[in-house]
Amino acid sequence: MNENFDLIVIGGGSGGIAAARRAAEYGARVALIEGGRLGGTCVNVGCVPKKLMFNAAEFVGAVADARGYGFDASLGRHDWAALKAARDAYVARLNGIYETNLARSKVTLVRGWARLADAHTVVVDGQSLRGGRVLLATGGRPQRPDIPGAELGIDSDGFFELGQRPQRVTVIGGGYISVEIAGVFAALGSTVTVVARAPSLLREFDPLLIEAAQEGLTQAGATLVLQATPTLLTRAAAGARIDVRLSNGELLADQDAVIWTTGREPLTGFIDAAVGVKKNERGYIEVDEFQQTSVPDVFAIGDVTGRVTLTPVAIAAGRRLADRIWGGMAGRKLDYDNIPTVLFGHPPLGTVGLSEPAARAQHGDAVKCYSTSFVPMYHALTTAKHRTRMKLVTVGPEQRVVGVHLAGRGVDEMLQGFAVALRMGATKRDFDDTVAIHPTAAEELVTMR
Ligand SMILES: Cc1cc2nc3c(=O)[nH]c(=O)nc-3n(C[C@H](O)[C@H](O)[C@H](O)COP(=O)(O)OP(=O)(O)OC[C@H]3O[C@@H](n4cnc5c(N)ncnc54)[C@H](O)[C@@H]3O)c2cc1C
Repeated sequence: MNENFDLIVIGGGSGGIAAARRAAEYGARVALIEGGRLGGTCVNVGCVPKKLMFNAAEFVGAVADARGYGFDASLGRHDWAALKAARDAYVARLNGIYETNLARSKVTLVRGWARLADAHTVVVDGQSLRGGRVLLATGGRPQRPDIPGAELGIDSDGFFELGQRPQRVTVIGGGYISVEIAGVFAALGSTVTVVARAPSLLREFDPLLIEAAQEGLTQAGATLVLQATPTLLTRAAAGARIDVRLSNGELLADQDAVIWTTGREPLTGFIDAAVGVKKNERGYIEVDEFQQTSVPDVFAIGDVTGRVTLTPVAIAAGRRLADRIWGGMAGRKLDYDNIPTVLFGHPPLGTVGLSEPAARAQHGDAVKCYSTSFVPMYHALTTAKHRTRMKLVTVGPEQRVVGVHLAGRGVDEMLQGFAVALRMGATKRDFDDTVAIHPTAAEELVTMR
């Protein structure tokens, strides 16, 4: 193997693979080191298997809705193990496709766990590789609080290993992963309790979306226990089950599974202290706007930097870095503002830009919001009447749209285009001047008054 490379990428997840391939396509000699499964968190224990679980859960409502449209439809037994097997096979296929694509782009794949020995030397299984530049793209892993019995629970990685659906589940945490996992279990028939420390779930989201998420979970039968944290997990008298003691005195007895979704921590232990890569107070690698760390020639992207920890963000940061260094695009970098994202819950939530409270904190009385809540035509014939909610947050006399927040059926596929409009500086007038597409739910976004 050629041990001298223009770029050594540590981590074969979303960001690392994207950066490595783009740099190699510009002619750089690139090595990528991966200790686990290619594709990283997103492909193996994140977005991809999660979205498949979301899809499975969607069938529950769809079959009930089909009756309203004249179908003699009923749900049979759900085979979790069969779903898992099919899902795992799909993920394994993706692992293979990533490997093929790396080879096609002429990236040298090195299997093993890397150690960064100095700014230009990476050691894998005793073998040293030299690189003109090194890119750190090692992502993160789930974390759980240090309370007695915490090990009895599992985390989001463990969720994807479950061979059977647990009947009684406690999901601990108030972030998007908690809402998504709880939504899957509730739809498929588990008895779900969500425990969160804050007064609401999804604290950073617009209140309209928080309301929709909480309503969706409770309508699906989940119980929300807010402003509480677990203090002790013990084995229940009945065999393998778990008792969860909460800070508010409540006992969640006989849980078949307890799932920690209490945040993630960056993987940085592979960096020798002497290299001097600076981390922030939360342990994430510090980078400037060009993804440059405190050490010349060492860059970092993706979750390990803690900045908007989403797959397309890691990919975009990696590709722009390669464009700038090897593609001749001086000054190219990722703009971290106005990144759209979707929470795949029931209902799905889509959000881009500022929430109403964040806009008011920044712009005070210059903020004007438009919102609507309606039952979409899809539900005209169904027994369930799930509402769709939408909000536009605008600023200033020209009413520039600085936030779009959507909850309801189909919004996951609706948001992307509106994110383009927001990024281009669209005003409420631009929205109003766009002719609606009828009959859709999305048309409400251009007809709000
Ligand atoms: C449950 C869940 C659901 C998610 N859903 C979504 C979603 O719907 N949409 C979305 O955009 N994002 C989602 N995310 C976030 C997304 O998965 C991450 O933002 C993304 O994977 C980050 O990419 P990355 O390249 O920074 O790191 P990762 O994808 O984590 O890749 C890092 C890689 O580095 C490897 N590695 C680490 N240390 C070393 C070492 N020393 N040597 C060699 N290899 C090493 C790891 O094995 C891993 O493969 C989800 C995350 C989770 C946990």
